[in-house]
Parts: sequence; structure tokens; C-alpha cells
Amino acid sequence: MSASLALRRPDANAQPPGASGVLRERGQREVFCGLTGIVWLHRKIQDAFFLVVGSRTCAHLIQSAAGVMIFAEPRFATAILEERDLAGMADANAELDRVVGDLLARRPDIRTLFLVGSCPSEVIKLDLSRAAQRLTAQHGPGLRVLSYSGSGIETTFTQGEDACLAALVAECPPEAPDAAPSLLIAGALPDIVEDQFHRLFDALGIGPVAFLPGRRSHALPAIGPQTRVLLAQPFLGDTALRLEDRGARRLAAPFPFGVEGTTAWLEAAALAFGVSPQRFAGAVAPAQQRGRQAVAAHRALLQDRRVFFFPDSQLEPSLARFLHEELGAIPVEVASPYLNRDLVGPELERLPAEVRLVEGQDVERQLDRCRADRPDLAVCGLGLANPLEAQGVATKWSIELVFSPVHGFEQAGDLAALFSRPLARRARLKGLAA
Ligand code: SF4
Repeated sequence: MSASLALRRPDANAQPPGASGVLRERGQREVFCGLTGIVWLHRKIQDAFFLVVGSRTCAHLIQSAAGVMIFAEPRFATAILEERDLAGMADANAELDRVVGDLLARRPDIRTLFLVGSCPSEVIKLDLSRAAQRLTAQHGPGLRVLSYSGSGIETTFTQGEDACLAALVAECPPEAPDAAPSLLIAGALPDIVEDQFHRLFDALGIGPVAFLPGRRSHALPAIGPQTRVLLAQPFLGDTALRLEDRGARRLAAPFPFGVEGTTAWLEAAALAFGVSPQRFAGAVAPAQQRGRQAVAAHRALLQDRRVFFFPDSQLEPSLARFLHEELGAIPVEVASPYLNRDLVGPELERLPAEVRLVEGQDVERQLDRCRADRPDLAVCGLGLANPLEAQGVATKWSIELVFSPVHGFEQAGDLAALFSRPLARRARLKGLAA
């Protein structure tokens, strides 16, 4: 197990495209693990603390990915399982209770404590959900202890957020019997983006609107049959299922990346809440216009450029659609760890018919296809970027697309810039070498 990359055994082969036209691969994969989600979740949920129950390797990953909080008290840490815990010679539950007690004595401001499972805690079958119940009983009601898995055993890194939000859904209260329709936006958004969407929904007359996760962990929205859900991220399959189990209705739509994606996403809400086309056009037109202008500035660099997506964040179909629709780029291969057609179907419909769709990964085969395709840009994980750059392919780290504010009209230009910048840099380097 490496600090950040979980390398899988080359255990299987590719299934040729079936009737669905999707090539399925089950080989060696290179992905970050779900602990990575703590990096953006701890910034979003400002009164929560994330305690990874893992090894020193897990601690190194979190420390290097999230940085050291020098001037503020950190809101994440690792309870390190030592050899005695792993060998079953110590009572890991007793150790965990002691660590949590010490943490809470020092940080009484914590309102929600997430116990985050890792590969080591899963290997020794430490039951964190029971530990969470025990600790809530011990330290509640002012503190809620929840658990989810961030392990790299069978996940890709964005599934950490999915697991965290699914745990929060279980804590959401039920709707009142006479509740009016409400809108829930699921997916961690930077505060600035959340505020922009709030203003747009206000202008559309849609409300009440809640965001999951919110800035305060105890302000959980009520869920029930009157709840309409828009997912802000395409990787929230488990969260969507949990919400639907509670009676909520998910609104199918492309995701709010780029001007067209954001428009279609807002339209889905407008339709569900009976907003007139005139009111919709009036409310979104100024922001649409700003977004279109900002995106257009990057079109010259991306028009007709061939882009190859390695599977990493699960944002791949949405980003390929954005690059194709709004910037004239040509997606050659769009691979994603999972292709959940329920969620990304509206994105796939907008991709060009000749695109090669891949679910899963066999990294060596995929590198061969990438070399044969000779794309202008590859969107890939950190581990593949340097080798591809050395072979003359400009790269974009896909994890950056999850860390950066990229949703909505106002960020559409920034999203385009994330793709045009590597091409501009490569053009400058070529110019210097000439
Ligand atoms: S959870 Fe697993 S993959 Fe992630 S850092 Fe810890 S040991 Fe490595």
C-alpha cells in the first residue's frame, strides 16, 4: 500500500464494448483513496472533525494533501493503529475511546466527529459504526459521532465524499407531514459557489433551498417525499440512493459545469418548481452572458484539440461534455471508474457518437491506447502525469478539478482555464525550444 496510490493487481482483462458501447476494464488501477475527500470536506463543514482510524501511511497522505494548519487548530487527524492493534494484542476500541476522549477535552467546539475508516481498520475489522454509536451515547447530545469508510480497498477518491454524505443523510430529520416542496443540493460546494446558487434560486423564486453538506453540521435539512434533489457532483451514487430511500425525488440533469451544464441543471429545478420560461431567462441571462464571455476567451486554444480522459474523479463525462459543447474540443476516450447511467446519462447523451467510453481501468492497456491516439491533452491522476508529459502529451491533474471552485456560471471561465493552461504552457515551451 502506498501513501496515496492504491495499485491493484493486474487481475483481469478488458471486456469489449457490448450493446451499451462501453468498454469495461478490470485491471490495474491507479487512484487516490477516499481519505482525500477530507481535504475539501473539513473546509466545508466548519464545526466537524475528521478522525482517520488508520496507519502512519494514512496520516502522511492526509498531512501532505491537506497541508499543515499552522495558525488554526486542525480539523482532521489520524488515530494511528500501532502494530499491537493490528496484531490484535491491544483493544483497539478502548484505544479509540481514549483518543476521542483526549480530543474532545481539548476541542469542546467539535459538534460532529467523523470516524473515517481506512484499509488497516477494515483489514482488522474494526467496527467504526458501533464505535460511533458508543461514543455518541457517551459524549452526546452536543456531539454527534458518525462513521464512514475512506479506504482505498475498493474505492476511488471521490467516493469518500459520497460515503460521508450518505452518513449525514441517515441523520437528517423527516419532513413535517404538511411540508411544502423544497430543494436540496447535494454535494460539497465552496461557500462562494453556494452563495451564487442561493442568489440564483432566489431570483427564480425557488425555495426553501438547503445544501448538503452545509457549513454547520447540525443544521441538517429535513428529507421526505416533498424534497427535490439536485446533485452537484456526479459521484454521489450512494447518497442519491439514501435520499431516494427517504422518499426524496432526484431531478435528472447534466451537472453544473460550464454555462450549458449549469443552465440545464437550473432548468431541471425550474421545471420541478413551475418557474416560467420568461422568469428563468430573465434570472439567469446576466450570469450566462458573463460565463459565455469568460469561456470564449479559451476557445482558440481548445478548439479541435483531442482530449483523453483517464478514469479518476468520476467527473470525466461531465468535463468531456463541457469541453466538447462549449470549447469545440474532441473527446477521444472518456474513461471513468464507474459509469452510473442513472446519474451521468444526461451527460453521455451530449457526447459525440464516436467517443470511446470506458468504465474501470487497466492502466497499461489504457496507456497503450493513449500513445496510439496521441491526444493533445490527457486528464489523469498525479501518478500518470509526469510519464505522459515526458512522452509529449500535455496533462491536467484531475484532482485539481475537485479541489477548485468550478461549478456554475461564474466559474465557467476558470474551468476552461484549467484545461487551456497546460496547452498554453506546452506551446510556450515549444516556442522556447524552437
Ligand atoms: S486508506 Fe489505504 S490507500 Fe488510503 S492512505 Fe490509508 S492505507 Fe493507503
